[in-house]
Amino acid sequence: MKFTVISRGDDGSNTVAEEIQHHLGNRGLIIDDKNPDIVITVGGDGTLLHAFHRYKHILNTVSFVGLHTGHLGFYTDWSAREMVFLALEIVKNPGKIVKYPLLDMVINYNDGTKAAKYLALNEVTIRSAVGNTMVADIELRKSFFERFRGDGLCFSTPSGSTAYNKSLGGAIIHPSISCMQMAEMASINNRVYRTIGSPLVLPGHHTCVLRPLQQREFNITVDHLHFVHANVQSIKIAVSKETIQFSRFRPFPFWKRVRESFIGDKKR
Ligand code: NAP
Ligand code: MN
Repeated sequence: MKFTVISRGDDGSNTVAEEIQHHLGNRGLIIDDKNPDIVITVGGDGTLLHAFHRYKHILNTVSFVGLHTGHLGFYTDWSAREMVFLALEIVKNPGKIVKYPLLDMVINYNDGTKAAKYLALNEVTIRSAVGNTMVADIELRKSFFERFRGDGLCFSTPSGSTAYNKSLGGAIIHPSISCMQMAEMASINNRVYRTIGSPLVLPGHHTCVLRPLQQREFNITVDHLHFVHANVQSIKIAVSKETIQFSRFRPFPFWKRVRESFIGDKKR
């Protein structure tokens, strides 16, 4: 089995990363940065997001496992203290594979530029680039749904629903459900302008298209990455056909992670 270890880069994470690399190397596993079968991240959820974008071209063959050196994360369910145990598990077997949904975004331009495609693990956010109100028509499944006016929109995956989406009042969605969620950022609602106001959850085969009305320049984020796109004609978002694979060596139920991350030790 070929593996690679990605560290957040701080001293603590680097030390843990070196140790796990030694443990696996000493037991006959081969380090391969280009074509790993398993990617072990050491740091936080942000570290796993970075690793995902580095290996998104080999999602069919690679699986991920995350160690946290700060606090428990949603993609990082192993603590640094469990590093030796995890290494032994990885040597013994490839683990159970769990697949989580991803998002596809396709940006089309009105100046003939070739369409741009992105894949997101947490979410994509779309805002006007100049900082004024974003105005765009929203189509769901090819029919007009609403004219959105506001700061912007967030489209999240189920595993990303606990990140930015949660701050926007979106629902937490179990990653076994193949869907995407659209959450508003400060929509304008009054007697003249009206948006749905609630987050929407769309099933795997429903596509959402944004068609800008005024400005054509947008600030777009894809997980931790940020882009400015000009001459935008439309932005299409849908659940991707691709998935991310995680290696599970023991159960750690999603709702338990939600509880431990957001509620903590509070008693009834
Ligand atoms: P960051 O600013 O360092 O991360 C923001 C926080 O989000 C960190 O605590 C991070 O955990 C956590 N996080 C990441 N993915 C998560 C998930 N799936 N569920 C729950 N928490 C999660 O930036 P970053 O590390 O590069 O991460 C980028 C992400 O930050 C974006 O995808 C977006 O979801 C989030 N973000 C949130 C807001 C907001 O809530 N207002 C604003 C901007 C961005 P770690 O500390 O373990 O890395
Ligand atoms: Mn981070």
